[in-house]
Amino acid sequence: MDEYVSKLMANVKAKNPAEPEFHQAVQEVAESLSPVLDRHPEYRKAKILERILEPERVLMFRVPWQDDKGNYQVNRGFRIEMNSAIGPYKGGLRFHPTVYLGILKFLAFEQVFKNSLTTLPMGGGKGGADFDPKGKSDDEVMRFCQSFMSELFRHIGPDTDVPAGDIGVGGREIGYLFGQYRRLRNEFTGILTGKGLNWGGSLIRPEATGYGAVYFAEEMLKTRGETFKDKVALVSGSGNVAQYTVEKLLDLGAKPVTLSDSGGFIYDEAGITREKLAFVLELKNVRRGRIKEYADKFKAKYVPVDSKLDYNPIWDIKAHCAFPSATQNEINAKDAANLIKRGVYLVCEGANMPSTLDAAKIFLEHKILYGPAKAANAGGVATSGLEMSQNSQRMSWTREEVDHKLHDIMVKIHKNCYETAERFGTPGNLVNGANIAGFLKVADAMLDQGLV
Ligand code: NDP
Repeated sequence: MDEYVSKLMANVKAKNPAEPEFHQAVQEVAESLSPVLDRHPEYRKAKILERILEPERVLMFRVPWQDDKGNYQVNRGFRIEMNSAIGPYKGGLRFHPTVYLGILKFLAFEQVFKNSLTTLPMGGGKGGADFDPKGKSDDEVMRFCQSFMSELFRHIGPDTDVPAGDIGVGGREIGYLFGQYRRLRNEFTGILTGKGLNWGGSLIRPEATGYGAVYFAEEMLKTRGETFKDKVALVSGSGNVAQYTVEKLLDLGAKPVTLSDSGGFIYDEAGITREKLAFVLELKNVRRGRIKEYADKFKAKYVPVDSKLDYNPIWDIKAHCAFPSATQNEINAKDAANLIKRGVYLVCEGANMPSTLDAAKIFLEHKILYGPAKAANAGGVATSGLEMSQNSQRMSWTREEVDHKLHDIMVKIHKNCYETAERFGTPGNLVNGANIAGFLKVADAMLDQGLV
């Protein structure tokens, strides 16, 4: 770590104690940007990076709600409005018991660079609550969402801040949140993305993050003259991103063999087919059951989580590529070494920051095809941007139109990261490429707009 980065990190840790995920995200970006700041003293003088890592605004609020038994419950809600230099704040809402300020700040920070890479005019934000939708009835989820929006509505708007979904926030939650916003404001405007199709949503938005990650990986493979035909793929998670990653892998001739949830993972050596995927969609999106049921139904192997292990056995299976699509830090250094030992030479991050700093270093040292989250999973927010365009024009594009635009954006993001990595002397290092390319656009906008 050079002197500039060590000083910056010491300051970040002192000012933001007990937020390890935020420290991790900042350190990765700062290490990539050090050579850029050497070449461009104007950014350093204007303290651009120091300003980017200080949120423009942090909202933290009480979310009281009543459960089905009539008991009062209280959760904590957040919205981090990180940076609006290139557009309104944009980024998802996460409902998960692990949510706290540090997780949302890391996500909001990453979102600034990601949104910049999409080529669309969107700033960065993130929000959510430490609420666990798992095991709650639809009515409980509705009452929670209504209470959450009863505070959030004051702070968002189509030209201010446009949230979307993330872990624990899918079509059902977006519906309840939107309904409450409309009721409070008496306005039908595009203040959330991921909406239902007949009330302002965009075709392909549910599929976009997973499809986009596979499109990005396809571009990485092309640099080696390869395709997905017959490639064996490990996928973690079984939510929105994992489901549509599997679907697009199947479209392109690959063989996905794993899926997981917080209880464990399934390994289906014969491959997850379209029929089996349809079962997973019904299991996870309608019945809200556990992935273990897949193993029972299709005679696949099920491995429950073993918290005593210092590695995750899902990453210790022979394969060509891996799509971590569950959550942050799900691949540690040991997992990274196992992946490489098992023949994996492409890792494409559907989840946000799924690899620890040490794991990412191992991928880069081995010069495998490594697509970092900021770039690889940007298809979701890019398609949210397309939903916003359709809302403001009061138009709906066809499935083919949106998919074509999504594909085009992912190809452009890959090209931008690939070329930027070369331009700054680290060819093939898409982590540097993504961090630098994402930074430059925001940094120049901030320089233009003065000290705000
Ligand atoms: P979902 O809630 O639809 O699915 C999340 C999946 O990951 C579930 O299978 C869940 O299992 C598992 N999971 C979540 N947290 C943990 C944990 N702590 N330990 C083990 N498993 C866990 O979320 P998404 O698919 O939308 O999000 C997945 C990842 O992709 C996240 O990192 C998110 O930030 C990122 N992402 C999502 C985008 C989107 O458009 N939705 C856009 C860009 C990135 P269980 O049900 O048991 O909790």
